[in-house]
Amino acid sequence: MGLEDLNRNFFTARLEDLVKWARRNSVWPATFGLACCAIEMMAVGTADFDVSRFGMEVFRASPRQADLMVVAGRVSQKMAPVLRQVYDQMMEPKWVISMGVCASTGGMFNNYAIVQGVDQVVPVDVYAPGCPPSPETLLHAILTLHEKIRTGQITRRRATTPPVERTAGWLREEP
Ligand code: SF4
Repeated sequence: MGLEDLNRNFFTARLEDLVKWARRNSVWPATFGLACCAIEMMAVGTADFDVSRFGMEVFRASPRQADLMVVAGRVSQKMAPVLRQVYDQMMEPKWVISMGVCASTGGMFNNYAIVQGVDQVVPVDVYAPGCPPSPETLLHAILTLHEKIRTGQITRRRATTPPVERTAGWLREEP
């Protein structure tokens, strides 16, 4: 085998880059829908939008096997601790997409029953705007997340950001 064959048949990369490449191409979402936005989230799994192109068609029923939570819909105060528990059960590294205005800000549900932004409950990596966001918008959010994983932005942010503030009344008491 000559030097020319070596150049054609091998490539080199940093291990860190290979790990990021593998991670961003195998993000598995948790099966977790809260309201009308979830219908659009389900649509990205259909043949028309084909999220499996990105290695993501495996929506997992167990948080232990998922590393992406798509918060699809408004978060009620009663659901908030459940959502947080599901998030806590997911393995690191893990990511969150807030899908739709209700999840991101409470939207038109500006009242005592709805959490006014899911980032009060879990750290959000990408916000997808709209009511509801179209499947294309969610795909854009997913690709934005992939880019953040590739560049390591999220890892750096997590390393420098303190844990989610635990001041709201709905959070579980620490044992
Ligand atoms: Fe429903 Fe619109 Fe709220 Fe999504 S953003 S949960 S579609 S009301």
